[in-house]
Parts: sequence; C-alpha cells; structure tokens
Amino acid sequence: MPVLNRMKRSILPDLRSTFGDRLQENVVLSCYTSARIGGPADMLLFVHSADELVQAAEKLWKMDVPFLLLGGGSNVLVSDKGVRGMVIINRARLVKFDSQAEQPSVYAESGVTPNDIAQRAARLGLSGLEWAAGIPGSLGGAVYGNAGAFDSDIAGNLISLELFDRQYERQVWPVKKMKFGYRTSVLKRERPPVFILSVRLALSHTDPQAIWAKMEHFSERRRDTQPPGASMGSMFKNPTGEKAGRLIEAAGLKGTRIGNAEVSTQHANFFINHGQTRAEDMKALIELVQNTVAEKFGVNLELEVELIGEW
Ligand SMILES: Cc1cc2nc3c(=O)[nH]c(=O)nc-3n(C[C@H](O)[C@H](O)[C@H](O)COP(=O)(O)OP(=O)(O)OC[C@H]3O[C@@H](n4cnc5c(N)ncnc54)[C@H](O)[C@@H]3O)c2cc1C
Repeated sequence: MPVLNRMKRSILPDLRSTFGDRLQENVVLSCYTSARIGGPADMLLFVHSADELVQAAEKLWKMDVPFLLLGGGSNVLVSDKGVRGMVIINRARLVKFDSQAEQPSVYAESGVTPNDIAQRAARLGLSGLEWAAGIPGSLGGAVYGNAGAFDSDIAGNLISLELFDRQYERQVWPVKKMKFGYRTSVLKRERPPVFILSVRLALSHTDPQAIWAKMEHFSERRRDTQPPGASMGSMFKNPTGEKAGRLIEAAGLKGTRIGNAEVSTQHANFFINHGQTRAEDMKALIELVQNTVAEKFGVNLELEVELIGEW
C-alpha cells in the first residue's frame, strides 16, 4: 500500500474529528483552478477566516500532513495526478477600511480577491488599487507572486502583512522582509513554511470619478488584449526589456495546439484550455514554446505560473 494511503488510514479519523464535514476526500482540483485543469487532492478543506487558516495549518503541521494553500488557483498548473496530502482553499475574506485616517488604508484577510478590494475601495472614493481591477485569485496569492499590472504592483501598496509560521506564531512582517522582485517574493523563491493571513494596503483620497475612469480604462485594455476562456493569465514572465507574448508571436506560435491546450490567437502569453485539457498537454505546450523561443531568439522564458502537485 502506498505510504500516503497508509498514512491517510491512520490520520483520517483524527482529521475527521477535528474538521468534521468540512473535510472532503479525493476532490478533483480542476474545479478550483482558473485554467480548469488538475487531478485529485487526497483531502480538501475550505477556510473562511484567518483564524480557521491558523487552526488548520497548526493541526496539519503538528500531524506532519503535507498541505498546500490555494487562493483562486489562478497562477498554478496542477498536475493530472493531483496533490498528495491536503489542499486548503482560502476563503478568509474579512475587510476593514480605515478611510478617516490621514493615510487611509485597508486591512484585508488573504482570501479576498484583488478585483473585489479594488471595487470596494473605489466605492469609498479611495484610490491606489485601480490597477488591480480584473485580477482574479486572492490577495495572498497576489502578495506571494507580487501580482501587478499597468506599471503598478501589490508591493507598491503594501504597508505590512501578517503571517503564520511553523513555530505556530503569528508575525507581522514589514514590506522589505518580503524581498519583492518582478512577479516574485522571498516566499515564491524560497518557499519557507509560512502563510499570509492578512495584509494592510495604503490608499489615498481622490475624486471618485477619476478612480472609476481609471478602472474603466484598465478594464477596457484587459478586454481588448486578453482572451476570454479558461487560462492562468500570463504564462511566462516578461524578459528584461521584452514582452514574452511578442517573442512567442514572433516565433510563429500563436494558435499552436497540443490536445486541447492552445497558445491564444489573441495574446500569445495566454494559454487556453479549450475543454478537458490534460495538465500533461499544457506542460508539453509550455516546453514546446520555451524550446522554440530559445532556439529562435536565444531567450529562456521563465514561468510565472507554478507547476503544482505530483508530475
Ligand atoms: C484571466 C487572468 C488574468 C490575470 N491577470 C493578472 C495580472 O494582470 N497581473 C498579475 O500579476 N497576475 C495576473 N493573473 C495571475 C493571478 O491572478 C495572480 O497572480 C493572483 O494574484 C494569484 O492568486 P491566487 O490566489 O489565484 O494564487 P494561487 O494560484 O491559488 O496560488 C499561487 C501560489 O501562491 C501561494 N499562495 C496562495 N495564497 C497564499 C497565502 N495566503 N500565503 C502564502 N502563499 C500563498 C500558493 O501556495 C501558490 O504557490 C491573472 C490570471 C488570470 C487567470
């Protein structure tokens, strides 16, 4: 019997008594990723607050059960074999605006969607997050990968963040400790055993009309340039001084297809799942694009998206 099956048999009663009906077993992850791709997780648990996330992580660490935290699953490619151990889906979504302070800010739990927080700030006449309109996923995932658009990124808004670590302690980190770079942070580079519980983001008072106009402008640019359909957003990081999409297009790869995975005909850095796409096919398409661009232009395209699970 595989090690994990043996382990599951011994740990399941304990996990079931801790999490009750919230614990799900053998859950297909394609339902929880924006690309609609991914095999089964042995176990799956939703958390609806930072406290629930702390309790779950502490329990699983103490029991030595491997686990993975996902927000919107919008920056990952999950393998067909899926994920061994537990997947926690973060739906911790408490939000508190501090709009009266001299420096307005918002506290948000890490399961809040960047788009949602941008819309709510705009309704209060608070500027700073217009660039995040239309970005799916969670703030936790956005901070982990330093999500950004239109020359802004989440690092530029961040005042501080609260994390939970393997010593079972909640810590407040200053921004510099995250060592942000373009679409990366120390969490993405080094994967220390910590999770983002909440963030505080800086905002400013501006004319509400100007905020909505900016958001509408950005949303329109998204609609014009980005393809609809199931995807992970941009597949590769832009190389310095270049656009990954331009290189892929110049290599003649727009519309290239393996199985039901396709390099978008609209935006070459978006790879579309046309239905029931296997992760293996998406991965083969990634490699084909990387190899072709390297041969033609001598540029190594670095994945922005993470490959997750058992390959
Ligand atoms: C249509 C579309 C458009 C997009 N546009 C943009 C864009 O304009 N700019 C951009 O930067 N990105 C964009 N993305 C990518 C994606 O939406 C963002 O990167 C998003 O912030 C990822 O968040 P998530 O919750 O989905 O992360 P997930 O995919 O769930 O997770 C990604 C990684 O973050 C880790 N993680 C998640 N939550 C936490 C946490 N609380 N603590 C620690 N680690 C955590 C996960 O373990 C995983 O390793 C787009 C994606 C799509 C599908």
